[in-house]
Amino acid sequence: MLYNRFSDYLKEKYKAKVYKLPVNIPVTCPNRDGKIGTDGCLFCGEEGAGFENLSNQISVKEQININSKYIGANYKAEKFIVYFQNFTNTYLPINKFKEYIYDSCVPNVVSIYISTRPDCVSDEQLSFLQSIKNEYGIDIVIELGLQTVNYHTLNMIKRGHTLAEFIDASLNINKHDLDVCAHYIVDLPMDNMEDVVEGAKIISALGVKQVKCHSMYILEGTGLGDLYNKGVIEPVSLEEYIDRTISFLEYLSPDIIIQRLIGRAPKERSLFCNWGTSWWKIHDMIEEKMTMEKKRQGLKFDYLNGSACR
Ligand code: SF4
Repeated sequence: MLYNRFSDYLKEKYKAKVYKLPVNIPVTCPNRDGKIGTDGCLFCGEEGAGFENLSNQISVKEQININSKYIGANYKAEKFIVYFQNFTNTYLPINKFKEYIYDSCVPNVVSIYISTRPDCVSDEQLSFLQSIKNEYGIDIVIELGLQTVNYHTLNMIKRGHTLAEFIDASLNINKHDLDVCAHYIVDLPMDNMEDVVEGAKIISALGVKQVKCHSMYILEGTGLGDLYNKGVIEPVSLEEYIDRTISFLEYLSPDIIIQRLIGRAPKERSLFCNWGTSWWKIHDMIEEKMTMEKKRQGLKFDYLNGSACR
């Protein structure tokens, strides 16, 4: 096994074909609405992170109904993960948050994934989610945008939080018996291989359960787009993306589930995305190189638990 594939994990855990159902709710982000910042992260388009969702004016129940019918019929899916994807899905009044979560607890939903920022996770929300898990038997995963562990880079890409908030949120989520999925941009040009390896180590040390690797995409009308157009930043090569991702996997705990090795990017307003090739070709290239060079997830996971004493 090259790495812990998400699809294998789902099959094994739920004994059924499981698909994610994106759900869109009317939320914004503190890094956009002025609470922390107004421009958003350097790479963020106005859609937030998701770009394939139904309107947020449709109720959560109805979105689940529409999407489960469509995905169930087209992909023969039997069970579903409700995925709150766009913007910061914990940045709203607690009563509203509870209402959306209760609306997601319907038959055939085995898990709820909630995408948010590390500085937007409270004890109150987590205690509520823990009670949902216990009452309905629905697994809860909090998807935290980390992007990099280099706090200088976090500052440069205007995340509005540093590494400390990610550490705090991860520990707190673990304490509530819920799972963390970390989003990581492997090829940020301000980072180097050492940062990526350190990222894998920190994620592993924190007991994160899942990881989603992304490549950096550049959209028109974003801060990153401006820097790219002015020639201030240059994307790393595809070869380097592949090498960084493989090293990241080698240092990652073998227990962590890999949701994806590379993301799909929005087609519209894209100035640079996946080196002009499709995500699945890059995905295959990573797997081929790992096979050829006999590399696998966790091969270099030997640094925790007092490694110098051994
Ligand atoms: S935290 Fe997410 S939604 Fe908010 S500005 Fe950054 S990328 Fe956009």
